[in-house]
Amino acid sequence: MKQAIATVKKTKEIQEKYKVFTKKSFGQNFIIEPGVVEKIANAAIQSRDELVFEIGPGIGALTQFLCEKSNQVVAFEIDERLPVVLENEIGFDHLHIVLEDILKVDIDEKIREFRKPGQKVVFASNLPYYITTPILFKLFEANEEIERITVMMQKEVGERFLAHENDKEYNALSVITQYRCDVKKVMDVSRRVFWPSPNVDSMVIQFSFHHKYHLEDENYFFDLVKACFAQRRKTIYNNFQNFVKDKALAKELLEKVNIDPSTRAQQCTLEDFIRLYEVTYESTG
Ligand code: SAM
Repeated sequence: MKQAIATVKKTKEIQEKYKVFTKKSFGQNFIIEPGVVEKIANAAIQSRDELVFEIGPGIGALTQFLCEKSNQVVAFEIDERLPVVLENEIGFDHLHIVLEDILKVDIDEKIREFRKPGQKVVFASNLPYYITTPILFKLFEANEEIERITVMMQKEVGERFLAHENDKEYNALSVITQYRCDVKKVMDVSRRVFWPSPNVDSMVIQFSFHHKYHLEDENYFFDLVKACFAQRRKTIYNNFQNFVKDKALAKELLEKVNIDPSTRAQQCTLEDFIRLYEVTYESTG
C-alpha cells in the first residue's frame, strides 16, 4: 500500500492538490486515523474473495484498506470531484468506482453485475450520516444475497439498531432490523478522528444477515410493527387498534398471542411481533 491517506497531513495535502475541500451537503467527514479504518476493514472482510461494496469512499481513507484485504472493491460516490482523486491516489487495479447516488442505485442489479458465481457480497462504509437509515433500509430490502454490512454511523442511531425490548432506544427500526440481521457493535469511535470533526460521536455496527424468518408478506409485518410503535406513550392496544381498525378484534388478537393489551410495544420481543403478525394476517388476509 502507498502511504496511508487517513492522516491529517495526507488528507490536507490531497485536499490542497485537487481542491477537494469537504462539502457539508454530502456529509463529508474524512477519517484521519489509520488505525480506525484498518479495524473497519478487518471487521468487514473475512476473505480476499469477498466482493466488497463501499458507500462514499471520499478521498479513499477506508477504500485503501478495503483494497488491501479484498481482490475486488466497488465504491459508490456521489461527488464528481472525487473519482480522479481515488484513481490517482489509491493505485489498485481491482478498485472500480461508480459515480452515482447510492439512493438511486439498483442494488440487486449491481450485485448481479459484479458478483462472480458463489462469491460472497459485503458492504462497508463510513456512512454519510444524513442518509444513514435510507441507505441501510435499501440494503435490507435487496433481493440478492448480502452476507454482512459493516458501517460507521452516529452513536445514537447505532444504539437504536442495537436495542432490545425494554431498552430506552428500542423502536420499530430495532425490530425490523433484527428480523433480518444479527446486529453487533464493532467499536465506539471518537469525533476527534474525523476531519472536520463533527459534533457527535460515532459507532461501527455490523449487520449479519441470518435468514431465520420468512414471512409471507414482509411489508405487512413491517407496517404492523411501525403501527404498534406509532405513539410511544400509548399502550400496544391503542396503537394496534388503529392498524386493524377494529377495537374488539385488536383486543382478541393480542390476547390470542398472550400479549397483555395494557403493555407497550417497547416491552414486546421480535417473536411477539411475529406471532401477532401471523394471527392478524390470517384473520384479515
Ligand atoms: N469514506 C470516507 C472516509 O471515511 O474518510 C468518506 C466518508 S464521508 C462520512 C461520506 C462520503 O459519502 C462522502 O465521500 C460523500 O461524498 C459520500 N456520499 C454522500 N452522499 C452520497 C450518496 N447519496 N451516494 C453516494 N455517496 C455519497
